[in-house]
Amino acid sequence: PYYRIVNRLARTLIPKNGKMKNGILYVVATPIGNLEDITFRAINTLKNVDIIAAEDTRHTLKLLNYYEISKHLISYHRHNEEIKSEELINELKNGKNIALVSDAGTPGICDPGEIVIKKCIQENIKVIPIPGASAFVNALIGSGINTDTFLFLGFLPLNKKNRKQKLEQIKDSTQTVIIYEAPHKLQTTLKDLKEFVENREIVLARELTKIHEEFIRGNIEEIIEKSEFLKGEMIILIEGRQEIKIEEKQQEFKDMSLEEHYELYQKQGLNKKEIIKKIAKDRGVSKNEIYMKFIL
Ligand code: SAM
Repeated sequence: PYYRIVNRLARTLIPKNGKMKNGILYVVATPIGNLEDITFRAINTLKNVDIIAAEDTRHTLKLLNYYEISKHLISYHRHNEEIKSEELINELKNGKNIALVSDAGTPGICDPGEIVIKKCIQENIKVIPIPGASAFVNALIGSGINTDTFLFLGFLPLNKKNRKQKLEQIKDSTQTVIIYEAPHKLQTTLKDLKEFVENREIVLARELTKIHEEFIRGNIEEIIEKSEFLKGEMIILIEGRQEIKIEEKQQEFKDMSLEEHYELYQKQGLNKKEIIKKIAKDRGVSKNEIYMKFIL
């Protein structure tokens, strides 16, 4: 009979101890421009959750309409993150599954997300990231600058003192540096960077995955010139500083005595002339200086 089916259904939904099982928070990456840059798993997740929490519901609607997904949307953005995260936690505690999306790319990466994720962890609510696009990864791999180690700084702070600190950090960084910037602030930021990046290679990754996608390369002066009238979304990548490595290496050699340094190459079978040349290069001094020290 009908009531038996209803009862059976209720038993599967409400656990025996009467406590509702927590839902899951899915952190879903969405495209950074091209609507097709989304995984099957992300689409299935958006289709199957009870609620989608979106940074800008109108923006997310475009994506949902494209994939013919109709779902209850809640707004979750920077200015209501604290309050809304409580609302989401309550829904999750009532057994609702929620997908969190931002306007573009991966939530939590320079986008809202962190607060509700931290709260979920505190409340023992499962968080499942659904991977996909993030603008900085694509900027980095397309830049041609070293990818083995990098420093992602997001947006530079606007506060003068904090900004100066970050610029100093960029100056000293031997890692590739990645910065996000809003189009209307690009020129100011590039000009601020000028005295901190010497002649290092700079790449502007512009409009990734969109029609006008391009990578603009050069030193800081060239980049300032080339980007003066450019519009669109940009990421600034800066080659890591080489000099420190050389300076550090030179210091290591300078910490050795000249005799130890000489022996190092003597053991490798080099002759006197070759050894003096190598020592001078290692220590960043002239051959003559080394030669004179050996004569004296
Ligand atoms: N959550 C996003 C992610 O995973 O990359 C980042 C969002 S953040 C608010 C927006 C910034 O990301 C932009 O100012 C720009 O620096 C960068 N960005 C986003 N989409 C981009 C694109 N298609 N091309 C270049 N930069 C992009």
